[in-house]
Amino acid sequence: MLQQRLPADQASVRRSNLSLVLRHLSENGARSRAVVAVETGLSKTTVTSLVGELQARGLVREIGPQHAGAVGRPGLALALDGSRVGALGLEVNVDYIAAFATDLAGRVLIDRRVTFDAMGSGVERSLDEVAAVTRRAVGELGSAGVTVAGITVAVPGLIDAHSGVVDVAPNLGWHRTPVAGRLTDAAPGVPIAVGNDANLAALAEFTSGVAAGTADLVYLTGEVGVGGGVISGGRLLEGADGFAGEMGHVMVDPSGERCGCGRIGCWETKVGLAALVRTVTPEHPYGLRDGVLRDPEERLAEIEHAIGDPPVDQAIAAVGRWLGRGAATLVNLFNPRVIVFGGYFARLAGQLVPLAQAELERLGMAGSARRCTIVASDLGFGAASRGGAGTVVDRILSDPTLIQIR
Ligand SMILES: [Zn+2]
Repeated sequence: MLQQRLPADQASVRRSNLSLVLRHLSENGARSRAVVAVETGLSKTTVTSLVGELQARGLVREIGPQHAGAVGRPGLALALDGSRVGALGLEVNVDYIAAFATDLAGRVLIDRRVTFDAMGSGVERSLDEVAAVTRRAVGELGSAGVTVAGITVAVPGLIDAHSGVVDVAPNLGWHRTPVAGRLTDAAPGVPIAVGNDANLAALAEFTSGVAAGTADLVYLTGEVGVGGGVISGGRLLEGADGFAGEMGHVMVDPSGERCGCGRIGCWETKVGLAALVRTVTPEHPYGLRDGVLRDPEERLAEIEHAIGDPPVDQAIAAVGRWLGRGAATLVNLFNPRVIVFGGYFARLAGQLVPLAQAELERLGMAGSARRCTIVASDLGFGAASRGGAGTVVDRILSDPTLIQIR
């Protein structure tokens, strides 16, 4: 029995059991107290008490009679509620800020992206803008009767998760930036976490993307920068300092171009959107080096429009081959079943995926490379904000006492 394996601390046991029941309803859908008791191994009395508390916290509601078959008399079915509990994910990227909010049951409440030149604006103005987006989202949710229970901010950089400080975000020009601390005024009393954008997007892919549920999955996103996240055995691979998955800055060409991070020949200099735009439309520069930014959708539309012109097709093909070379390394390192292409890689999937898959199979170790499929994400830009909201939901499912009794 779960209860007997837990530490003697009563509050801790209670918290674990509240989480067990709430997660059970979240993952398996509505069912009666009697069914929950049988399926979780908790006693009926304990389940009744736990459900009472979850109802008081606004996380569970009764939805009507359910016939439980052989398991006992019909009882009132319980369902995850949390319709007044909001989870907010934000994403700051080089050229946009995204906001995504759901309630506890996953109902989407906000899904938007605003063009913003975070790189050109500098740290202070960028944080002011993120604070404004946060304030607006919290206000909107509040007007709809939803209380924000947590916020996770996705940033393309290396994060000190414990302090909510961005150590370094090369493409934003941020160093030791206290993101969580700067947002507390915009959302008073709301816990704020900060995470790496690609890691959060990988979590979003794992929970709700095209390859959802694939236990061994690598996510690779092409924006101005290139980031990645690794799901291994159903868990996000974080590494000792949370920096795992920074594949955009793996060096692939020692005689190549200088990267936004200051080093030479990073994979990002071969497959990042800035690199492609520079090759395709050198007269319209883009990216960190050239100091000109616009919404990625706009730049992509220009490139898509130019498909069919031989120099453009060649530039895209070169990106496809470089993607396959990097993918072969990823397969050798992590043995994923699926590699999900996000960001602009997904938008140009028709051109990029066949070339990358062929190069992967040519270069990867026989067998493992052939059993790894490259697919395009359907979550679009802003997947990281979705993943950010997901981590807030997960935090509440792990500790329902984070939500106050009404
Ligand atoms: Zn680099």
